Amino acid sequence: MKIRIIGGGPAGLYFASLMKREDPAHDVVVFERGSRDATWGFGVVFSDRALEFLRADDEATYQLLTPLMETWPNLTIVHNDTRIPIAGNGFAAIGRLELLSRLYAQAESLGVRIEFDSEPSSLDDAARLGGADLVVAANGAFSWVRNENEDKFGTETDLRSNRFIWYGTSKVFDSLSLTFRNTEHGVFCAHHYRYSPRMSTFLVEVTDATWRRAGFADMSEEETIRHCEQVFAKDLDGQPILSNKSFWRQFPAISNRQWSFGNVVLMGDALRTAHFSIGSGTRLAMEDAIALWKALRDAGSLAKALALYRERRLPPMQKILDAANVSIRWYEEMDELMALPAVDFAYSYMTRTGRVSHAEVRRRDPALAAAYEKNHADLRAD
Ligand SMILES: Cc1cc2nc3c(=O)[nH]c(=O)nc-3n(C[C@H](O)[C@H](O)[C@H](O)COP(=O)(O)OP(=O)(O)OC[C@H]3O[C@@H](n4cnc5c(N)ncnc54)[C@H](O)[C@@H]3O)c2cc1C
Repeated sequence: MKIRIIGGGPAGLYFASLMKREDPAHDVVVFERGSRDATWGFGVVFSDRALEFLRADDEATYQLLTPLMETWPNLTIVHNDTRIPIAGNGFAAIGRLELLSRLYAQAESLGVRIEFDSEPSSLDDAARLGGADLVVAANGAFSWVRNENEDKFGTETDLRSNRFIWYGTSKVFDSLSLTFRNTEHGVFCAHHYRYSPRMSTFLVEVTDATWRRAGFADMSEEETIRHCEQVFAKDLDGQPILSNKSFWRQFPAISNRQWSFGNVVLMGDALRTAHFSIGSGTRLAMEDAIALWKALRDAGSLAKALALYRERRLPPMQKILDAANVSIRWYEEMDELMALPAVDFAYSYMTRTGRVSHAEVRRRDPALAAAYEKNHADLRAD
């Protein structure tokens, strides 16, 4: 097959490798508009069982990436100055550039051609896409392939109201932490965790009202960093906040009714976005790649494979997406939730998606469950 992939993020790169490994005769090219040694953001976190989802299908990639990950067994919620460690919540993190570098190397070693600084900007780009059997749009949340064909894909975009900015810091944290601090302008939340022995992600999120009251619209990049450093001074311990193409954004919750038309198919964030608070976007992108690879292997024609891809992938994907969309709303209500006592706030966080019951909190962290039960007599008898 002649396969052309637009976008060299986790979805596109991993799909390229899977296809080339399946059959070295496939002609696979990835077009990446960025350069090899630059990317946006800092580290990404994988919830729960980290890369276990890869293991059954691809032990080699599991072994390639797992040693590079920072892992820890607990999560910490910081409610102003009260720290609540929560046991039984394993996470693993990796630098985005580190992850991509390994995926570039893996793909190239299998014979995939990656063209960096190369950006097809139309499906009629004959030089790059001409004669392809399959064109994969893996060009992220702002995919022009999807945007220009919204009617064919049945795209829905819900731009959420909270504002976030993806920073890093040289402060190295012990566990994945969510720090919530009341300020005169409203609540500031930082999602922070180390992703290498020397660096941590430090993502700041606020409601739109807080963002306006704080005056971020009129602040320079430097002023914005200084403001966030002041809010989180106790957490940063004097270490600086670092920017990497960082700017305030609102999260676009994107979904598509159709996943393909003709020989063009969506994958990864181009297909759907999952809020970063559940740490699943990269995993979903890589799972899409596995699903499309398997569908192409199992179906007798491209049309059948594209239908099979959606049919098999939709149910497990939707489950995670539903949880992500509930999680988005929890953060949108964080100013009101901060009025809860710290233990109740942490409990509310743990149970926010509806997938963790009280019995499950008890199993994961008996001390948190017991502290919560003190204030909620109705749960004690359960
Ligand atoms: C603030 C933030 C924090 C996040 N944190 C996490 C986290 O902790 N854990 C997690 O799992 N996920 C996280 N995510 C989500 C995760 O980054 C994405 O889900 C994942 O990167 C999707 O992979 P992808 O390959 O589909 O898209 P991307 O990673 O966006 O890659 C798309 C690639 O396409 C390229 N491209 C775009 N347009 C073109 C074009 N016209 N031609 C050629 N190339 C093009 C881009 O340069 C990019 O390299 C976070 C996202 C955000 C915004």
